[in-house]
Amino acid sequence: MTLPFLEKLLQVLAQGGFSSTYKYAVLLGLIDLCVEAGHPPTSVTTAQLARRVVELYWRQVRPYPVVQRVLGQNRGGQATIAKLVADFRQAHPDLVSPPRVGPLAPAGFDRLLVDVEWVLVEYPLPRLQRVGGGEERFIYTIGWGADVSRAAFARYKRGDSAAFDNRILLQPGAAESLVALAAVVRPLVQQNWMVMVRAINGLPEAELDGFLFGTERVGLGALQRPLLALQNGRCFYCEGSLAKGSSQVDHFLPWSRYPDDGLDNLLLTHDHCNREKLHFLADIGFGGRWEARSREQSARLDEIAGEARWARDRSRTFGVVASVYQGVPDGVRLWAGGDRLRRVNLDDLPDVHGFGRGLLTS
Ligand SMILES: [Zn+2]
Repeated sequence: MTLPFLEKLLQVLAQGGFSSTYKYAVLLGLIDLCVEAGHPPTSVTTAQLARRVVELYWRQVRPYPVVQRVLGQNRGGQATIAKLVADFRQAHPDLVSPPRVGPLAPAGFDRLLVDVEWVLVEYPLPRLQRVGGGEERFIYTIGWGADVSRAAFARYKRGDSAAFDNRILLQPGAAESLVALAAVVRPLVQQNWMVMVRAINGLPEAELDGFLFGTERVGLGALQRPLLALQNGRCFYCEGSLAKGSSQVDHFLPWSRYPDDGLDNLLLTHDHCNREKLHFLADIGFGGRWEARSREQSARLDEIAGEARWARDRSRTFGVVASVYQGVPDGVRLWAGGDRLRRVNLDDLPDVHGFGRGLLTS
């Protein structure tokens, strides 16, 4: 199942029918939604996808230092979604990460999500799976075409759910394939996205990858002090004292696996512990401690998120961790601290696979 799926995905990536980077945003958004569900979903909604796509463009619409302007995401004029997100960020310079949806969201954020959702509905979603003159709906089916009515969409957004079916129905096996292939497909999509942005903006080979897809290290710095207090001045992994200036904010689930900057995924560690862990998954013992922190210090984490205006979405982080650990195969090596890697054998698998599942029900 997975290999023919990958073959078709590569064809979608290779087809040149898109003048903007929406294709990549939709693919990454669908992967993220499937991974963070914790178990492969049968459908996602256009509203959920809009939220993920806003997050993807969020970091990209900062002015790029090399040219000191927002990078173009479309051949010709700026892509509508990039423009909408850039305008919103400009109007809210104090927001490091996208705000949470809800009554506390800043004015205009709901409007932004609706506008982005409409662009996705009208443009990339009906066109993404067209390759070489035909269309093969191997990822999803939707109940509308490129001639979708704006009026019907507007009625749905006003609460008339019969006016427009906002579900993106995933084909049997598609969500499983996206989750299984995420570690391979994500960097591939990002690479294609970067090449297109480089071409659109006439940029030479640059540090564009880190700018477009890296975490905002500057922002992470604001979490050093509160995390240091939360961890009583100790490294999360080795529990040694964190002398001043030697610490790093570490992603418990590595950024390369899933780009989650949610507070539950962030820990303070020694520089060297962070470097040694690299892109490895942490061993299950660390996992237990990590889970305990999220549960037992939940109120304190909420405070930190509030003070630093940092995103905290525990159910998303837990969903992602559950997905990734449930997919760990026999023989994989988990990071056990220092330079030690521990090979998972069949006897460990129930523990490893069980890890994260309980988190979802808490
Ligand atoms: Zn350490």
